[in-house]
Amino acid sequence: MMGKVYLIGAGPGDPELLTLKAARLIAAADVVLHDSLVGADILRMIPSTAEIVDVGKRAGKKLLTQDEINSLLVDNAGKHEVVVRLKGGDPSVFGRAAEEISALREASVAYEIVPGVTAALSAAAAAGISLTDRRIASQVLLSTFSRREDGNAVDWGAVTPATTLVLYMPGSDYAQVSARLRENDMPTDLPCVIVSQISSPRQQIRWTTAGALADEENLPAPALLIVGRVARQQAAELAASLWPSTDSTRDSPTIRVI
Ligand code: SAH
Repeated sequence: MMGKVYLIGAGPGDPELLTLKAARLIAAADVVLHDSLVGADILRMIPSTAEIVDVGKRAGKKLLTQDEINSLLVDNAGKHEVVVRLKGGDPSVFGRAAEEISALREASVAYEIVPGVTAALSAAAAAGISLTDRRIASQVLLSTFSRREDGNAVDWGAVTPATTLVLYMPGSDYAQVSARLRENDMPTDLPCVIVSQISSPRQQIRWTTAGALADEENLPAPALLIVGRVARQQAAELAASLWPSTDSTRDSPTIRVI
């Protein structure tokens, strides 16, 4: 038997932010291999008949290596029909989808990618800002400060004053991030917003600036930083006052603006 591997984006955590396709495939899964970022409410949607494998990697403490995960995917495709590889956010944004796709191609295993809501988009939505506000932004750059093999360092040559810079995996040292921004000619009053644990009941949003970021207390992981003119709290407050939320049908996570 040769099954199919579905690389599925689980979004930021709230099951309502899953695509219908993701929900359908999770319900049909024979086996689910998931990361630690995938929310508990989404894991509860996995049928009791399915095998669940946590391949999550926590800072430094790897449960499985990427090669081991790749082999597991290929092995499971030989044993099951519907193999779900569930990742937080979108599988192709800092999600190591490329390595897994290469391994599947090499082993001639059929696969399909099901996109998810990446953290940059859910953070912008949570903060009530537009990443591409055409009045003040010309481009969006998704990058990371992580120095491990997870991603590339920021290409500062591509950053202009009208760039919205979204930093995944900002680490625990915001002072270092602030210093790098200053070294690369970002004005100290450039707006900056930190969004932690997006779409969970513990979600926190903190508005600051590139300079003041150095003194910010660390927010719990996972957290994401948006730096740029669009990240102005006043802009978000104005939008909220013009279009107040009318969704009272469910308990949405409390947004704590600090
Ligand atoms: N594939 C994921 C990103 C994985 S890298 C995606 O598309 O979203 C992990 C980083 O993503 C975290 O360090 C954090 O910066 C960001 N992130 C993912 N989920 C998040 C969440 N619920 N809240 C805040 N940041 C999140």
